[in-house]
Amino acid sequence: MRPELMVFYSALDSFEAWRTALAAEGVALRQADDIEDVGDVRQALVWKPPHGFFARFPNLGLVVNLGAGVDALVGRDDLPDVPITRLSDPKMARMMAGYVLFAVLRHARDIPAFERAQREGLWHYIHPRDPETISVGVLGLGELGLAAATECARQGFRVHGWSSSQKSIDGIETSAGPDALEAVLKQSDILVCMLPQTAATRGLLAAGRLAQMKRGAAFVNVSRGSIVDEPALVEALRSGHIAEATLDVFATEPLPPESPLWRMENVLITPHLASVALPGSAARQIGENIRRLRAGEPLLGQVDPRRGY
Ligand code: NDP
Repeated sequence: MRPELMVFYSALDSFEAWRTALAAEGVALRQADDIEDVGDVRQALVWKPPHGFFARFPNLGLVVNLGAGVDALVGRDDLPDVPITRLSDPKMARMMAGYVLFAVLRHARDIPAFERAQREGLWHYIHPRDPETISVGVLGLGELGLAAATECARQGFRVHGWSSSQKSIDGIETSAGPDALEAVLKQSDILVCMLPQTAATRGLLAAGRLAQMKRGAAFVNVSRGSIVDEPALVEALRSGHIAEATLDVFATEPLPPESPLWRMENVLITPHLASVALPGSAARQIGENIRRLRAGEPLLGQVDPRRGY
């Protein structure tokens, strides 16, 4: 019997790390150029492969998106008609929750004000607030969003999570759907965007929505830059309506040098690294899904291309 192969493409991730991790799951990973018989390739593990990539492999039965966000994949017009899964990895969720907690604590503990004061040699005392008086709104309660919301609740913040379908989560207030968004924006002292980029979320946080945010609130975006109207965000940060922001994602990445965000004292910029897939733990889900595919069982983390996530 000929071996089943999985083809790899990513300009960001280490092929060797993935090859080793997947070998432990009995999966043979190859770079496209090292494959002699393209007919042996049954699965693809990809992050933003070039257009036409999939057409080279006529027997593909599964496409695994090398990451949690699938917007770059589901919007393509060259996808094979096979199941698509996203990576689902508890360590990726933990890393994201850690970043969000860092950003939330940074705002809750007024760290940006102390950084500014230090630059001027000022002993600038601000009395710490009880976390229970600080409302953290988390937009999106998916795998990463829920982990982040739970982590913030564990620190004692009042957490409100907003999603598409209504959820019930211990220790977290929840609401769902477009009609509930305004209330979340109005009450949040710190708003964290963890929504996937879809047709419904692109531009969701437009000027009108940002205006509904509590005056002086902080904004954290770790999902996709396109969800917020960036010029409107800049304006809100300039006027002080939004006091501070921690931004990991941007409409255009890398963030262009001419973006005013670079020069804003009240903005912390990180280059899209809030969380990454960790081969050692994420490979397990891929191995499990290949087993499920062969057994005709439902896949873990399957994406609905029409829904967009
Ligand atoms: P999931 O796909 O697991 O969950 C998405 C959540 O958003 C769900 O709760 C869903 O609601 C909700 N949602 C989707 N559309 C809407 C809508 N129109 N209105 C209200 N709620 C909506 O996502 P993850 O939590 O795993 O990841 C979130 C995003 O984080 C990814 O899509 C990706 O863009 C980004 N990301 C960023 C990284 C970084 O380093 N900065 C790293 C990895 C991911 P419901 O539960 O009802 O379906």
